[in-house]
Amino acid sequence: MRDRGVAAMVVTPGADLRFLADYDAKALERLTALVIPANGSAVLIAPQLEEGEARESGFGHTGGRVVTWTETEDPFSIVATIVDESGPGALAVDDHMWAQRVLRLREVLPEREQVLAGPIISEIRQRKTSAEIEQLQHAASAIESVHARVPDLIKVGMTEAEAGRLIAEAIIEAGHVTVDFVIVASGPNGANPHHAVSDRVIESGDPIVVDIGGTMPSGYRSDCTRTYVVGEASEVFVMAYSALQSAQESAVGFVRPGRTCEAIDAHARDLMTTYLLEGVPLSQYFIHRIGHGIGLESHEEPYLVAGNTDPVEPGMAFSIEPGFYVPGRFGARIEDIVVCTPDGVRNLNLSSHDLVRIPA
Ligand code: ZN
Ligand code: ZN
Ligand code: ZN
Repeated sequence: MRDRGVAAMVVTPGADLRFLADYDAKALERLTALVIPANGSAVLIAPQLEEGEARESGFGHTGGRVVTWTETEDPFSIVATIVDESGPGALAVDDHMWAQRVLRLREVLPEREQVLAGPIISEIRQRKTSAEIEQLQHAASAIESVHARVPDLIKVGMTEAEAGRLIAEAIIEAGHVTVDFVIVASGPNGANPHHAVSDRVIESGDPIVVDIGGTMPSGYRSDCTRTYVVGEASEVFVMAYSALQSAQESAVGFVRPGRTCEAIDAHARDLMTTYLLEGVPLSQYFIHRIGHGIGLESHEEPYLVAGNTDPVEPGMAFSIEPGFYVPGRFGARIEDIVVCTPDGVRNLNLSSHDLVRIPA
């Protein structure tokens, strides 16, 4: 914070607060905020009626100072006092703070430049501790146990939405506290990377992209994609899929400290360029970045995309998820969560990447 000229950081409920204060507070209209001065101790500001929860948080438990405010007090002036005690400098606000709060902070601290806290916090958040990696491993194992059930859950004649509901139940049964997303993209819907579910009826011969994730009690997230096929898929699909599988596996093996985010993305993309799908390089159908960081949020730093020249470092956890999306016809994606280790990579997802058959 001092290097960046920041006098204090204000963090409202969300992943940053959970990370910094071990406090999973709900974002409600009354202000809850962790105020971290560059000079001085952090203070957790909470509405009086949530004092118990605030004191039970990791921050409260370890002796952090909790200041409560009553219905008729102005919590923003409490924040302003703490910030001013820290001396001159900018005010950093968390990346997801409500605009309402950002503007109230500007009113009470009109002389302070406002900057994003994200770049400061993500420096810490993107390098996971071994305890965090174990939580991500639990999440990855849980979601893989759901994938193991998918061939029994999806049946020909079912709609994507019906299949999605069964998969969502399985995500909870596997130990998640919430379902974050369920993508069941069958046949031509597979060509839309962020398709959710629809009333399309699953047919024999369909490839199906199933991308699912949830949040574990720890707050850490899962995210895993496998591609299924009902009965027999077309030859052209199966061949392209096997090129994708090689590219994905090669990209996972390419991860090691010092390799840049964009180099890992380019590694898979270059391999996919050499495979021609009906004369078109497969990479032309790979229309998104290869991966994103994961932790207390499904998508967080680092982003593995062309233009990001940051090297990956030990402790960083991210997805490797190349795909191909052929409009009007089909799509496929393979997604694992991997961790950069001191000498290479650890894949948290151990299940096979082969096309998974669903009986026709
Ligand atoms: Zn995505
Ligand atoms: Zn995913
Ligand atoms: Zn993902």
